[in-house]
Amino acid sequence: MTEYEAIIGLETHIQLNTATKIFCSCKADSWFDPPNTNICPVCTGLPGSLPTLNKAVVEKGVLLAKAMHSNLLPMSFFDRKNYFYPDLPKGYQISQYDKPIARGGYLDMPMNPAGGQSYVRRVTIDNMHLEEDAGKTRNEPGRRLIDFNRCGVPLIEMVTGPDLRSADEAAQYLIRLRQLLRWLGISEADMEKAHLRCDANVSIRIKGETHLNPKTEIKNVNSIDAVREAISKEIERQIHEVEAGHKIETWTLEWDEDAGVLRKMRSKETEADYRYFKEPDLLAVRMTDEWRDAILAGYPELPLERRARFIEAYGLPEYDAEILTGERTLSDYYEATVKAYGGDPKRVSNWIMNDVLRMVNDAGIQASALKLTPAYLAEIIKLIDAGTINTSTGKSLLAKVETTGRSPATIVDEEGLAQVSDDSAIREVCAKIMAASPNETAFYKAGKVTLIGWFVGQVMKEMRGKADPQIARKIMEEMLSK
Ligand SMILES: [Zn+2]
Repeated sequence: MTEYEAIIGLETHIQLNTATKIFCSCKADSWFDPPNTNICPVCTGLPGSLPTLNKAVVEKGVLLAKAMHSNLLPMSFFDRKNYFYPDLPKGYQISQYDKPIARGGYLDMPMNPAGGQSYVRRVTIDNMHLEEDAGKTRNEPGRRLIDFNRCGVPLIEMVTGPDLRSADEAAQYLIRLRQLLRWLGISEADMEKAHLRCDANVSIRIKGETHLNPKTEIKNVNSIDAVREAISKEIERQIHEVEAGHKIETWTLEWDEDAGVLRKMRSKETEADYRYFKEPDLLAVRMTDEWRDAILAGYPELPLERRARFIEAYGLPEYDAEILTGERTLSDYYEATVKAYGGDPKRVSNWIMNDVLRMVNDAGIQASALKLTPAYLAEIIKLIDAGTINTSTGKSLLAKVETTGRSPATIVDEEGLAQVSDDSAIREVCAKIMAASPNETAFYKAGKVTLIGWFVGQVMKEMRGKADPQIARKIMEEMLSK
């Protein structure tokens, strides 16, 4: 059987989270606004209006370029990309062509395939372009509605080399890119809201060959699962065609989410169709060293770097490090708690992964917004270590601190939650439980020793969870064996 490999490149459009649009002062994010409410003469292309570049767009581009190891061009230009479409009122899109903001670069992705050897896939970046978005068209029976709100919303177009070798790698690239964009705070990167859009170029070849075969392009797939599924189907289709002796044609395909199939759209345009020329209404962007340094002051440690450091410095398993660095404020939260606690970093990781993460997800907030601060979480773990409270009281404290915003020690004092490790107090309760449960006591004495769990449970219940469970168990066993 012939063995094939897939050659995949992704073209992504990233919507930047600037307050205003790229060339005018209209609000950029219109997701919740009625159609045509965030528009002006500039973004609707009225005659005589002139664009002014939003500095924040360039600054966000510089952050992404740095993260992708791309080279910033000292001078970049805007160009007009001409094409006619109803939701493009100027008749051209302002984009970048031969002198974009940055060129080259790469992202190294750790891959851990299920049941396989882990490896690192380097995904190269071709170019990074700044550009404006077009409007939205909605077709209804008998009419076509156009919403210009999205016209002029800033985008970065980033194209990868043909470096991805499977649908899983393509999905992983998008996961890593989304993580990075949110980490840098430059895009919400929500695929469902089209903040991150992806077109995929797919071709196949016989494993070992080095040339590239004709490719197809899959347009506008709007979730990571859909990307994985659409690419898998396209690889299968191409192998099937080649095996049947057919040639692959350079089609443009569209993913039909509901039917789970790819449909042919049109044959692909070539770049010549766009008649690019320099945008005469905008100056070149001059990237001085001073400006670049000012933008990059306070540039953060990136998620994959932090992941590696967590494994190295705190001895965390890869699994923990991956989850704790999934989102920037969560990883900051973890590290702040480790510092405040001063003990075993894995113990802190367990508390966050088992309990805090659920609180964060349930409330739909970021870790930084918790009233249960790193200092309070550290305090709870220390109270347990010191034997002041037991683990289950510690767990119930999490929610109490989160609701009231008060310190764990205060709550322990006020509610009298400190655990009782005083032998005589526990002994008294044990005797009371035995007296109240003659049957269970008899069964235990007759050899049904697994009942000890039930006895300890009764003691804990009677003492409102405050007994030290280890001591309660020891005393109970001792008394039952008499
Ligand atoms: Zn505008």
